[in-house]
Amino acid sequence: MKRRDILKGLTLLPLTGSLVSKAAVTLPSSPAKKPARDLFKELGVTPVINASVTMTFLSGSLMLPEVLEAINSTSHDFANMYELQDKVGAKIAEMLHVESAMVTSGAASAILLGTAAAITGTDHEKIKLLPNLPGPRPEVIMQKTHRYLFDQAVTTTGAKIIEVEGPDEMEKAFNDKTVMALFFNAAEKSSIQHADFVAIAKRHNIPTFLDAAADVPPVENLFKFQKIGFDLVTFSGGKMIRGPQSAGLLFGRKDLITAARLNHSPNEAPIGRPMKVNKEEMFGMYAALKAYLERDHKKEWEDWLQRTKYIGTQLESLHSVKTETVVDPGPANAYPSLNVTWDTGKIKITPEQVVTALKNGTPSIVANGRGDRLTIGVVLLRPDQVDIVAGKVKTILQQAV
Ligand SMILES: *Cc1c(COP(=O)(O)O)cnc(C)c1O
Repeated sequence: MKRRDILKGLTLLPLTGSLVSKAAVTLPSSPAKKPARDLFKELGVTPVINASVTMTFLSGSLMLPEVLEAINSTSHDFANMYELQDKVGAKIAEMLHVESAMVTSGAASAILLGTAAAITGTDHEKIKLLPNLPGPRPEVIMQKTHRYLFDQAVTTTGAKIIEVEGPDEMEKAFNDKTVMALFFNAAEKSSIQHADFVAIAKRHNIPTFLDAAADVPPVENLFKFQKIGFDLVTFSGGKMIRGPQSAGLLFGRKDLITAARLNHSPNEAPIGRPMKVNKEEMFGMYAALKAYLERDHKKEWEDWLQRTKYIGTQLESLHSVKTETVVDPGPANAYPSLNVTWDTGKIKITPEQVVTALKNGTPSIVANGRGDRLTIGVVLLRPDQVDIVAGKVKTILQQAV
């Protein structure tokens, strides 16, 4: 979150007293009705309010009501998993204007399955042997500045990563062991831009894969990279698309998706078998994508700005507190949040201490604090949690005066 655009002089919708009910349409599942059986309580698990961004360790996202409905309503009958993946994949491909698509157990799984597909094609012998193919290791080209934790999903297949810098080096990196070229969309620096990356790989007849796991919003990103010419693209299901956390999308070229599916469950032996996706999650992922595409994204954005405005107004009633709405330029996590600063001579607590106090409070709230500023994320709050977060932060600051 380095470059941030500061939103000043934005026209915000007037805040009415009905922040909660107005926002309800576009937000994660509505405030918990007292459930008949409280499993959080039964197991002593702390429920957490996420005033940050989607994080896997914090259970990703809250599934949309449409997703929960899909999961519940499909749980009472069996289905043939080959047919289900066929039908769900076809529908997703149609929605995203690509040849083919499948539901994976997440973006990391999609990277692994895409790499496996590029290595094996539909060769059953190779599929059976992966990751222990005889001979030299298959090679996947990546930009040096794109290396990241998730590329272990590439090497898990037995492939080796070849690092390149700039178009000339990329051009020279291809040989008869090369199987794929991987582009990390949210990398901070690229020495080869998207279109050049695709063009160079195409000249060598090698498939390109783009990881855009956390890169909606904007919704347009779900269409952008296949148009540029990437052969495979992945998005996480359990981030801002708000599907099941253990689901994701892999889409693009038909022959590659066919090969990826051969490397996946429900087949018994392949490398992707331990990355099974259950029936309900497949339906759930489809429902999540459909709901995401049909959402009023402009309204949702305005709701988010109302939230930062609301919390900001509450906090600025305290002496020396200043707030500003900032939008992360992305490509990952590209949405508004609120930065809060104060005079630590007047309010004697650091942002990091506020974060600790929020985390240890009841309810437990996760926010971020670095240097002289506290950052409050608003996009993952349930409508009823906006006021709770504003109130808790305000109390903690007040107590430090
Ligand atoms: C979150 C993330 C992943 C992993 O996605 P999962 O759906 O959790 O498997 C991979 N790549 C990037 C860039 C991510 O942000």
